[in-house]
Amino acid sequence: MFSSHSDRVALRFGDRTLTHAELASCAGALAHQLAGLPRVAVWATPTIETCVAVVAALLAGVPAVPLNPKVGERELAHIVADSAPANVLAAPGVRLPDGLQSVPRREVTLDGRSDEPLPEPDAEAPALIVYTSGTTGAPKGVVLPRRAIVSTLDAVADAWEWTSSDVLVHALPLFHVHGLILGVLGPLRRGGTLHHLGKFSTAALAEALNGDGTMMFGVPTMYHRIAEEVGGNPELAQALKGARLLVSGSAALPVSDHERIAAATGQRVVERYGMTETLMNTSVRANGDRRPGAVGVPLPGVEVRLVDDAGAALAEPGAIGEIQVRGPNLFTEYLNRPDATAEAFADGWFRTGDVGTRDQDGYYRIVGRKATDIIKSGGYKIGAGEIENALLEHPAVAEVAVTGEPDDDLGERIVAWVVPSGAAPDERELVDHVARLLTPHKRPRLVRFVESLPRNDMGKVVKRALRA
Ligand code: ATP
Ligand code: MG
Repeated sequence: MFSSHSDRVALRFGDRTLTHAELASCAGALAHQLAGLPRVAVWATPTIETCVAVVAALLAGVPAVPLNPKVGERELAHIVADSAPANVLAAPGVRLPDGLQSVPRREVTLDGRSDEPLPEPDAEAPALIVYTSGTTGAPKGVVLPRRAIVSTLDAVADAWEWTSSDVLVHALPLFHVHGLILGVLGPLRRGGTLHHLGKFSTAALAEALNGDGTMMFGVPTMYHRIAEEVGGNPELAQALKGARLLVSGSAALPVSDHERIAAATGQRVVERYGMTETLMNTSVRANGDRRPGAVGVPLPGVEVRLVDDAGAALAEPGAIGEIQVRGPNLFTEYLNRPDATAEAFADGWFRTGDVGTRDQDGYYRIVGRKATDIIKSGGYKIGAGEIENALLEHPAVAEVAVTGEPDDDLGERIVAWVVPSGAAPDERELVDHVARLLTPHKRPRLVRFVESLPRNDMGKVVKRALRA
């Protein structure tokens, strides 16, 4: 899975680094200790130890479950019962919560050394069990075989022309696919470098990219911060200008943020679309057209189709339907949830639950999630994202989420939850703004001003919390 034993820096966290050769040998030592265990959990703080623990488990062929160190009691109890780890791997000195007392702890140290090879694990055997972000319900344990991880990493490397000379900069958490699989295993598979910032700040990002950083991965909340600041921050603008590739994913990147960054730096963010169950599905290619609001084309080896409510495939450009995916990038099952697994597939295609469209030339656009972003109002099906993008163009709107609420006349009415950028703007003006930019039936019937939006640890708006 990782072939490099070079003296190039593989991992940089603050002033701590590990070369590829050191990583192979120190993870190798831990892997020999883990071999034969049924499953382990990893207390996934943003540290070198977390990376070493995950690599060791992969080398040993022991399925690893990365845990969010901010996980609450109830969720932790569910994950521990669901995944039954034999050990929890943690950096020395880190306090673990009471909910992990029943699981024997194993310290991850960086001083072990073993270059004794282990047998190559089976490509179809579970390698990682990653819990989904819990945006639409309780997180589900997604069983990912090695085959899916390797194929997605090689597919994005092809799309992004990712090589061993690249230094990837990010500040993503290490317990989801984005930060861990793309953000840690990606650089390791390429023989390149990960520079992890620990905590996201535009100052740290600018410094890293003005140093040797060549690429950045981020979620839309980070790009939003960048878009807000970059016009008045020459150092940040310079850093982004010089980067080879800025990649966004995990949620939709607002069109206004994409445009503001482009205007200040000349750099257009590359958007990609993926999920825990499928890893990466589509992306704008490094040499492709970087269109705001579009997530690019299917990655090599991945098949994508759109289907209507009856399950029939839609071929017409512009048609709107559920996105379904097939390919070597797919998971094998939801842990302990055979019913959910069976429900998630239609004739071998994974039903993403996301709705999208395809342009004339094969570019996909995400309209939103079937469950929360498609509003059925007055006989129309309306995507929340389009209205959100329109509202974000208004200078009085800092953040927004659009939902549907039951309505006697309309079936559902469109509600806009707005975080104002200054003093509360005029509701009428925002409604008219949408009616003018889009069409009158897409205007919100109600605007609710709020101080902030409920977001999960990936910065995604949890719309079910707004509705409640
Ligand atoms: P849960 O499944 O627990 O509700 P989740 O779906 O947010 O949580 P993830 O697997 O981390 O958990 O996220 C995948 C989802 O994120 C996709 O199904 C899609 O809705 C959204 N997503 C990812 N990338 C993009 C993108 N570029 N544009 C729009 N949405 C995206
Ligand atoms: Mg999901």
